[in-house]
Amino acid sequence: MGPKNLYLHTFGCQMNVYDSERIRQLLASRNYRLVEDPSEADLIFLNTCSVRAKPEQKVYSALGRFRALKKRKPNLIIGLGGCLAQQEGERFLQRFPYVDFLLGTKELGRINELLDDLDTLGKRGWAISLDGRIDPYASLPFLPSPSRATAFVTIMQGCDNFCSFCIVPFVRGREVSRPSPDILEEIRALAAQGVKEITLLGQNVNSYGNKAPDEISFTELLGGIQEIHGIERIRFTTSHPKDLSPELIRSFGRLSKLCEHIHLPLQSGSNRVLKRMNRGYSREEYLERVNELRKVCPQISITTDLIVGFPGEEEADFQSTLDVVEQVQFDDLFSFKYSDRPYIRAAEFQDKVPGEVSRRRLMELQARQRRITLKRNKIWEGREDEVLLEGRSKENPEENTGRTRTNHIVNFPGTDDAIGSLVRLRIERAFAHSLRGGRIV
Ligand code: SF4
Repeated sequence: MGPKNLYLHTFGCQMNVYDSERIRQLLASRNYRLVEDPSEADLIFLNTCSVRAKPEQKVYSALGRFRALKKRKPNLIIGLGGCLAQQEGERFLQRFPYVDFLLGTKELGRINELLDDLDTLGKRGWAISLDGRIDPYASLPFLPSPSRATAFVTIMQGCDNFCSFCIVPFVRGREVSRPSPDILEEIRALAAQGVKEITLLGQNVNSYGNKAPDEISFTELLGGIQEIHGIERIRFTTSHPKDLSPELIRSFGRLSKLCEHIHLPLQSGSNRVLKRMNRGYSREEYLERVNELRKVCPQISITTDLIVGFPGEEEADFQSTLDVVEQVQFDDLFSFKYSDRPYIRAAEFQDKVPGEVSRRRLMELQARQRRITLKRNKIWEGREDEVLLEGRSKENPEENTGRTRTNHIVNFPGTDDAIGSLVRLRIERAFAHSLRGGRIV
């Protein structure tokens, strides 16, 4: 049978990006190859996100377009995976009769089984169970796309924290850590493929292994990866401030391969709101962690997530958030308007913030951070730094693009170096979203 075309669209977080890469691999065994244009596809797979209302709406509007396509191409197969598939389950297939199969967040490994049923029996199907295990597919030998210098590695799935705004524990299940020998083996295999930088993924990597008495700690896992020949850089995401241990903070001064960047979601700078969010730390404790990190690693870049318009957020709470943003001087932040989601506790809170108030706060926060980000980026002008070359710049294919250890994107001239090279550059100019580098002559 000749090759078949797969159009794979990923919504949402890096966890989904990793899962989509797995899907691509599993489907390669069925002779599917990726295409960029959905109209050429034999199979369209959407790896979905439902963490906020907006990405969910994007999935529905994409489905509307693919429905029209399926009318013209009746043999087109449409499948959905990820958080929205998990959230909606079987009723989704009833609502969207042109969708052929659904895979929950822990069932992606069953894609070929569902496609077999579709091929042989013409049967639409779903697999959405959420038990306390790691999806076995996550332990398959993993090979990244060719010529990649960086790769994600999932080290745990799910979350036990139940922040009152978050759907993750309901769509990704309770926290389960992958066995450390499997993780280390996967990273050794990636290093053998030429991968130089790995990013460890989990909803709360700081609590890695906490539920398994015989498992090593997250810091010990980092120590094990530090020993792997060929891996030059280690990153991880996401950290929960309440679980950021002194031992892990010290790792930033101790492990030479651990990059000087941490994404540490704050969510709100108001203690009152943090409490209602069930975050388990105060703004003072957060600021203390930031101080400790900067003491151990003065050049560390710190990014965060913030939610505005959480139910009951008053002007004074929002001002407290702005105040923390000024105090910390984040390198960058991701900010969102609160939205009700199925299952979450905050959906029951009656004191919702009007949409126009949330919008105004979001704009004010983003404007404030834009100024801070540019100021922080300007610090790099004139400095020399090491950049891992990741590929050609999207804006200008005559140029290279890569990242510093602090996770700043740097574009620089030339296309001679191999992807995966570590290049020393002088930072010539800083912009809002990237840096411009020049060769050191
Ligand atoms: S820590 Fe909170 S925000 Fe993060 S995934 Fe868990 S419940 Fe969601």
